[in-house]
Amino acid sequence: MVTLLTYAGDVPANAPVLRTGGVPLAPAGFEWPHCAKCGGPMMFLAHLPVDAGVVSVFMCQNQPGLCEEWDPAAGSNRAHLYPADAALPPVSAHPDGPTLLPVVNGLRPTESAADEYPDAVTAWSEAGNERRDALGQLGGEPCRLQADEDPACPGCGRTMDFALMLEAGRDYRSGMNFGGDGWGYVFTCAGCERAAFLWQC
Ligand SMILES: [Zn+2]
Ligand SMILES: [Zn+2]
Repeated sequence: MVTLLTYAGDVPANAPVLRTGGVPLAPAGFEWPHCAKCGGPMMFLAHLPVDAGVVSVFMCQNQPGLCEEWDPAAGSNRAHLYPADAALPPVSAHPDGPTLLPVVNGLRPTESAADEYPDAVTAWSEAGNERRDALGQLGGEPCRLQADEDPACPGCGRTMDFALMLEAGRDYRSGMNFGGDGWGYVFTCAGCERAAFLWQC
């Protein structure tokens, strides 16, 4: 069984639902993350309520490819994990640089009987859906494009739990920059309230 994340249409920019794009929801005192490499403000990518809590993902896009923004530990992306019941008001976009995606895509968990992501996507397409509307996988086993790079939790040191995978997007407008046809991976450690993000292509 694979749970696909499929396109759920346009949703409000501040909707507290699974989405890419829009604005971050974050606790009081939140400070917009800046890239450790270039110093610029990161781009907000996704708001992701999952089992472990609410994940909020950012990635530097000030000089794509030069900031090692695929690396979970380089400081050029950021994933926060907030408790599911945390008060998370919308945050205004940082005014400098590319800090928001141009399109908001709602994501809908969609069960598939297939065992692996590529087969689930094929079945989804053959059922009459558009291939580009299959936008990722929720939970289960990650389908990796490269070797296993599952990160160790910076809090407790254990390998973090795979939460979900995101495809770049439906088209160039909504797309996140994962090196072309790459996929982004979100990991969590609920006990430490940590999340991590990486992408492979
Ligand atoms: Zn940067
Ligand atoms: Zn931990």
